[in-house]
Amino acid sequence: MDLRNKHILVVGLGKSGTSVAKFLISRGCTVTVADNRREDALGDVLSEIRSLGITIELGPHDSKIFENSDLIVLSPGVPHTIEPVNRARQKDIPVIGEIELAYHFINIPIIAVTGTNGKSTTTLLLGEMLNHSGFKALTGGNLGTPLIELVDQQETADFIVAEISSFQLDTIEKFRPLVSIILNITDDHLDRYPDFDAYARSKAGVFKNQTANDVCVLNEKDATILSVSENLTARRFAFNCRQFNEYRAWISEQTICFHTPDDGDQHVDCTDIPLTGRHNLENASAAGLAVLAVGGTISGIKDALQNFKGLSHREEYVDTVNSVQFYDDSKATNVDAVARALESFSSPVVLIMGGRDKGGGYESLRSRVAQCVKQLIVIGEAAGKIKTVFEDMVPTVMAADMAQAVKMAVSYADPGDSVLLSPACSSFDMYDSYAQRGRDFAQSVDQLKSGAQ
Ligand code: ADP
Repeated sequence: MDLRNKHILVVGLGKSGTSVAKFLISRGCTVTVADNRREDALGDVLSEIRSLGITIELGPHDSKIFENSDLIVLSPGVPHTIEPVNRARQKDIPVIGEIELAYHFINIPIIAVTGTNGKSTTTLLLGEMLNHSGFKALTGGNLGTPLIELVDQQETADFIVAEISSFQLDTIEKFRPLVSIILNITDDHLDRYPDFDAYARSKAGVFKNQTANDVCVLNEKDATILSVSENLTARRFAFNCRQFNEYRAWISEQTICFHTPDDGDQHVDCTDIPLTGRHNLENASAAGLAVLAVGGTISGIKDALQNFKGLSHREEYVDTVNSVQFYDDSKATNVDAVARALESFSSPVVLIMGGRDKGGGYESLRSRVAQCVKQLIVIGEAAGKIKTVFEDMVPTVMAADMAQAVKMAVSYADPGDSVLLSPACSSFDMYDSYAQRGRDFAQSVDQLKSGAQ
């Protein structure tokens, strides 16, 4: 991709947009960034960007700027269907995202991880499995370092493992990973896609440019994945799969079994690994298959699993107060993540749910909630909607904020029970991020503990 002397518009000045703008200016382009927020909402990044000679356009988008560009690079937070982008496309101005741009400058193999849930965990775990197999892997993309920043680090590495969200897949064209992983597709982001099919098609973008020389690792138990991958060209490696595929993995109790034509069955005992829950064994199966696909080892897979502690805000143990254990699963922003979290508890759960509704409905959680939850506490914008779905089957109350929710939770819990924050909603009604929400939960637990002592 020849960028010299091109006028490039970067839309959205978030983390990846900022990195893209810096990358482009360092490659000799004329760069403008447009963001519809106001100056005070953007903070320090503006002065840094201005000092590099990048033009900044804030407030409502001006279509002319879009139409006068040679290339538009959209941030994942900006819907790819907004009016000025549509108009630019009609004038044949190419519109891509950061992933596509980075792809043109990366010359080591990419392993791309997508799915509704488990991307971050799988990406980091896979990176560790490769490192323990004697390779050097860089990780990034939708988590950690944006892919475009890895361009300048690739020389010393063997692989890039990239977490890729559906929003990022919406703006790829030629992006073709050596290995793609598609973990699961369940309801999410229905506030941004017209329907579930559109969301599922977007996820399938991860393998759309792959050829028979590439590998796609997919979840054989996920009906949506099976349907969108019917015409898959890449070699198929399947997890949750006991037979038929040449390359496969399945879970039996706490053991993951990998099967390859060369090595037959190889077993990895996961009884004592720090990660918990069946969903994490699925993530590990997918990561392991990808590792075997690129020449990694079973001992590398085992070593990584023994040492990988899991990420914050994913079913993270916080503390115990009055013999009640508190868990922060703030990253569970959709119903399937909540269902999988509930599946991991054998004792009764007081569940805190709520936040900003994402348009998908909560009904699919009813049976799981009936089985595992003794008391539901709802918070945030979606509180009323969630209460209506569950109050006929589980006692449900509303709390004004997190501190009150935590206080209520401990009053409903008996010794031995667990309190779980697993919101099924985004955090943006009350917080800047899921991480801030999780920290507020942990702080509220801390305050409760100081009061209880
Ligand atoms: P992502 O990056 O896709 O959001 P994370 O690894 O950050 O995935 O996990 C997000 C949430 O999904 C957490 O609540 C986690 O416990 C849950 N989760 C992780 N893996 C899976 C899976 N394979 N299926 C369902 N839920 C999962």
